[in-house]
Amino acid sequence: MHQIGSKGLTIVVVLLAALGVASCSQSGIPDCRNDPPGFLITNVHIIDGSGTPAFSANVRIKDGLITDIGSLDQCDDETVIDGGGQTLAPGFIDTHSHADSRIFEHPDALAAVSQGITTVIVGKDGDSSYPLSDFYSKLRHAPATVNVASYIGHNTIREEVLGEDFRRAATDEEVSLMAEILANELESGALGLSSGLEYDPGIYSDSSEVLRLAKVAAAAGGRYSSHVRSEDRWFEDAIDEIILIGRETGMPVQISHIKLAMKRLWGEADELIAKLDAARANGVQITADIYPYEYWQSTMMVLLPERDFTDRDAISFVLDQIAPPDGFWMTKFDPNPEYVGKTLTEIAALRETDTVTAFTQLAEEADLMRKETGKRAEAIIGTSMQESDIGRLLNWPETNICTDGGLVDLHPRGMGSFTRVLGRYVRELKLMPLETAIHKMTALSAAHMGITDRGVIRKGAVADLVLFEPDTVIDRATPLAPDAISDGITFVWVAGELVFANAEVTDNRPGRIIRRAMQ
Ligand SMILES: [Zn+2]
Repeated sequence: MHQIGSKGLTIVVVLLAALGVASCSQSGIPDCRNDPPGFLITNVHIIDGSGTPAFSANVRIKDGLITDIGSLDQCDDETVIDGGGQTLAPGFIDTHSHADSRIFEHPDALAAVSQGITTVIVGKDGDSSYPLSDFYSKLRHAPATVNVASYIGHNTIREEVLGEDFRRAATDEEVSLMAEILANELESGALGLSSGLEYDPGIYSDSSEVLRLAKVAAAAGGRYSSHVRSEDRWFEDAIDEIILIGRETGMPVQISHIKLAMKRLWGEADELIAKLDAARANGVQITADIYPYEYWQSTMMVLLPERDFTDRDAISFVLDQIAPPDGFWMTKFDPNPEYVGKTLTEIAALRETDTVTAFTQLAEEADLMRKETGKRAEAIIGTSMQESDIGRLLNWPETNICTDGGLVDLHPRGMGSFTRVLGRYVRELKLMPLETAIHKMTALSAAHMGITDRGVIRKGAVADLVLFEPDTVIDRATPLAPDAISDGITFVWVAGELVFANAEVTDNRPGRIIRRAMQ
């Protein structure tokens, strides 16, 4: 158990479970009032999301809610779903998702539901839909299988105000304009402000701009989530910046996809955690999310903060310290799609040149095409992390699980992050009890996003649920087959409606829009 809120929750769940058992055993008659009849899930181990040990009970679902938990008998007309001894958990909450870019194209959200995810939090890395009211109204008319909540992106509103003239600090007046937009978007129900300070145009902002905007989010009862300003060269400064924002605003702040992504930083997870714990001890509500892979996906240019792809020294440094050529795959390269799936080492060999020159050439060709088409023409997977560091960061009590993935993703994280934690880190590496991992996918995630009534199996909560087989659950997606579906996820319900069954998405689209709870 990691926080007071979760302890309270545990007591409530235990009490409710006890009451459920008591009422049944005393009267022998199940509580079958409140038509229409719902359904009863039996023969399952329940992991309720609070982090406490699994227990056996039946769960009754009516009108999209969990209405009872205990040793419950079947009512007339009630459907019984025999869980076959598998594990029932709250539906997983992905706190850092890029599902927003394709959700209207793929409302089945197969990549999410097939790994047990029932809620995606989008608008991350500083990049969101705008205005959110349009996004929400589109979603209302064309709902997906999954629930959707969004942040409003700093890069999005900075672009709105500065347009193409963004390679500079914003003036006071411009920041005021951004603040105005932000306040409106928070009014629409954004969970908070997200930033992507390693990307354009946010990379050109200074801390005072971000802090001024963060104060607007804090005043509205929002929160802050950040792809921090550097994940490698100036990582320590970047962590100091988000701690400062948490301290100055008093609102919850979250480090997105926390990682130690540079040789120099490897093995320093304990130091990083000590720094975050010290901030928490001083009242800063800082947390993190993480995806369980040693490689990330982004652009070539994110590796070059000066954005100069002719700088051979900077590229040599990158290939030596951050993204070695053998673990550097092209996942998108529009000037020559045949390079997709090849490493920088392989491409350099094809071009009969060295890897530094090959990097420069590829970046230049992609940049030319971007200028012609107005669209990003390249993407890469870079291998920068160590499994042992990931394990330590995953185990930090304030870290929850995310994918950082899209619904159609060239990185396997979009299909396999949650099942990989369950199969690889829990079952194979025995990093933590299954109950702790589920907590980090459900109740802890909900707490970090300010979402109530989800992420927990208790009476009155929304019936977002996943039934899975702990002995077989595993990810199958790889960099070369990023769309392979996971094993071991049996059924997924959203608001009591079945959305995924035996490796297929159903026709139901019960996903709802989740807005920030307004004070
Ligand atoms: Zn990011």
